Amino acid sequence: MIRFYNTLSKKKEEFSPLKQGEVSIYTCGPTVYNYAHIGNLRTYIFEDLIVRTLRRDYKVTHVMNITDVGHLTSDCDTGEDKIELSAKREGGASAWDLAKKYELKFFEDLHSLNCARPSFTPRATEHIKDMIALVKTLEEKGYTYKTSDGVYFDTAKFPRYGELGGKGNLEGLKAGARVEFSGEKRNPSDFALWKFSPKDSKRQMEWESPWGIGFPGWHIECSAMSMAYFGPTLDIHCGGVDHIAIHHTNEIAQSEAANDKPYVRFWIHGEFLVLSAGKMSKSAGTFLTLDALRERGYDPLDYRFLCLGAHYRTQLEFSFESLDSARAALRGLRERVAALKEQSDGIVKDLPALEEAKAKFKTDMDDDINTPKALSVLWEFIKGPAAAADKLEFIKYADGFLALSLLSGEVVKELPAAAVELLAAREAARKDKDFKTSDRLRDELEKLGIIVKDTPKGQQWGWK
Ligand code: AMP
Ligand code: ZN
Repeated sequence: MIRFYNTLSKKKEEFSPLKQGEVSIYTCGPTVYNYAHIGNLRTYIFEDLIVRTLRRDYKVTHVMNITDVGHLTSDCDTGEDKIELSAKREGGASAWDLAKKYELKFFEDLHSLNCARPSFTPRATEHIKDMIALVKTLEEKGYTYKTSDGVYFDTAKFPRYGELGGKGNLEGLKAGARVEFSGEKRNPSDFALWKFSPKDSKRQMEWESPWGIGFPGWHIECSAMSMAYFGPTLDIHCGGVDHIAIHHTNEIAQSEAANDKPYVRFWIHGEFLVLSAGKMSKSAGTFLTLDALRERGYDPLDYRFLCLGAHYRTQLEFSFESLDSARAALRGLRERVAALKEQSDGIVKDLPALEEAKAKFKTDMDDDINTPKALSVLWEFIKGPAAAADKLEFIKYADGFLALSLLSGEVVKELPAAAVELLAAREAARKDKDFKTSDRLRDELEKLGIIVKDTPKGQQWGWK
């Protein structure tokens, strides 16, 4: 029995899908105007864990969209389109090429983090017709009005507006939006379904519509794409907690207004990864990418392991110290696996005990994806008295959920580029007898997890 904390009911609920044996899950994908930061990636890792856990019991269809148009710099429908703005910043690149470039990079990141590729990854720009059709339905049902810059959803006409985020968030949204409250909007929480292209300049991405040339609002994109795959009601919809108050609240309003049916049965939201200095934000430029971690010598799976150590509904404060600990623990696990492989004769000795441990592990994963508890079951079994073959079987089972490449993964032994440079600089410093510099460089290398020893043959390095 799988249980999830449902943001809608604000409690853990027993999960069962609408269609027996099959689960429909939609996760909000990236806005491809920049590299994903490791905060975004935490959300995709938690969603991957949900999908992997569900796949044990169900056939799962996972749709993750690619937002390649319509996400404005402010979630309140003002500002520039993030993709077009980024294309301008990158020296007038084509918005289409830019979106493809970051989309590709995003999938590479997911792959490096062992996140399973979703069943479908539709691009917003490929579903414009569905979006227009949805806005038309809303118009026919009297939920929309036109302003000089677009077609808006009148939230006052949807009495249940804001239920997902609770009253507190709705008040916050209204207060926040007041600053940007355009005179033409009827209510601060109203949102754009279709935006008109500016009169004085030409957008790269724009389409004809019954209301004029323009582009879809960000929220209508997800509703239209999830409906295209799943119809009016789907089992699960996920995203980061930042989407509760506006994006998902608006998705519910427009979808349920259009279909007169519940839109999503389980809303599951992942908490943020934060930096000790505050928020990690793409637009503020204060973000770390997976490549930045690689350059410092970390394996992407060290980061995955770090994320698994915290429950997805608790904030995780990122630090390199905690990433070091995650890396050390993961290496420890892999070393044990290597030793077990040497000891194992391949024959399980105590099947009931093995099955009991597996069941315990699954119970924790099924309990709202409790990875910290599941990991402790894994450690307990590995450190316990079971035979090597039994332990390997258990690790294989657990890794089906955790996806840490525990059985096949080698610890990356190549030196990161930054370390190669530091080692060369240190060797040069030692030749010049500049020991102050060479000591400083040794400390820097240690921060990358590399220990340097000076031997009669010259400096030798090893992993911490
Ligand atoms: P975006 O590409 O900005 O649309 O965001 C992609 C996903 O990352 C969304 O589900 C966001 O809720 C999520 N997200 C954004 N910032 C963070 C963060 N610091 N920690 C965890 N998830 C985040
Ligand atoms: Zn979305």
